[in-house]
Amino acid sequence: MANWALVAHGGAGVIERQHLRPEQEAAYRGAMGRVAEAGAAVLKAGGSALDAIEAAIQMLEEDPLFNAGRGAVFTAEGEIELDASVMDGATLGAGAVAGLTRTRHPISAARAVMEHSPYVFLGGQGAEAFARSRRLEAVKPSFFFTERRWSALVRDLERQGLPIPPRPSGAPTTLDARAGLAHDEGKRGTVGVVALDCDGNVAAGTSTGGITAKRWGRVGDSPIIGAGTYASNASAAVSCTGAGEFFIRLSVARSICALVEFKGLTLQAAVDKVVQEDLTVLGGDGGVIAVARDGQMAWSFNTSGMYRARIASDQPLLVGVYKDDP
Ligand code: ASP
Repeated sequence: MANWALVAHGGAGVIERQHLRPEQEAAYRGAMGRVAEAGAAVLKAGGSALDAIEAAIQMLEEDPLFNAGRGAVFTAEGEIELDASVMDGATLGAGAVAGLTRTRHPISAARAVMEHSPYVFLGGQGAEAFARSRRLEAVKPSFFFTERRWSALVRDLERQGLPIPPRPSGAPTTLDARAGLAHDEGKRGTVGVVALDCDGNVAAGTSTGGITAKRWGRVGDSPIIGAGTYASNASAAVSCTGAGEFFIRLSVARSICALVEFKGLTLQAAVDKVVQEDLTVLGGDGGVIAVARDGQMAWSFNTSGMYRARIASDQPLLVGVYKDDP
């Protein structure tokens, strides 16, 4: 049995071999591998599952290839509103934030809500004020800007016949080389990491910019405990990515844990049941990653691809992008 294990995702969607240039594929595989190795280093050194997922998700939030933190998608008003959540399987402690606009690492804000507030879920300006009270780093909104996400917004609004907002002030005018490697896998994306540590505790975290051109304060599944994220030492830790409205309606993350806890399903059978059957029948698309307390690791997705990686004390690094990758 593994002493520690970690699984990461960088979003699911239309990700097909014929659409990615070799250098794009290499960039995504490299990023997922590095993130998994960094999380693994924390676990190998005896660090907690929570520390490992926070460190790994911070890296993904910093990387403009992914829809979280820098490189996040824009709302219809031309703003960036970031959502994140975290859960500690040992205590069932949980923290979440929605609609952050300036906090550099939303995952750390979610963890601070869990550890330093009497609440589970904070939204909007209040969440931002709480992050400042915890001295979490704030950046100008233009820090998150990438040209690729801006042009995706403009295309989307044109298609919908909605007004195009002014380009955000301070938006860089030169192209970022790394952001230029990003692949357009659809209007969405999310990052998430789950881990089992050497003390036998599991934890899960998820961070996202949501959906391109979202309106009216829309919040998806990613910051909703039980939908986009769940962790319990009684079963598993789960992080999701996909059409958030469907994941909320199916309580995807909690449902997977319940199948393991109450029905005794293996982790792979549980993730497949919820993703390939329930989610697919309802018409939602996306994927999940999971790790159980006994070291089982699993993923499942009903899209053509999902950026993903897994590694454990008894298993080498495995990175996947397309459906037919191992
Ligand atoms: N689940 C995210 C949301 O609905 C988006 C995604 O993972 O693709 O906000």
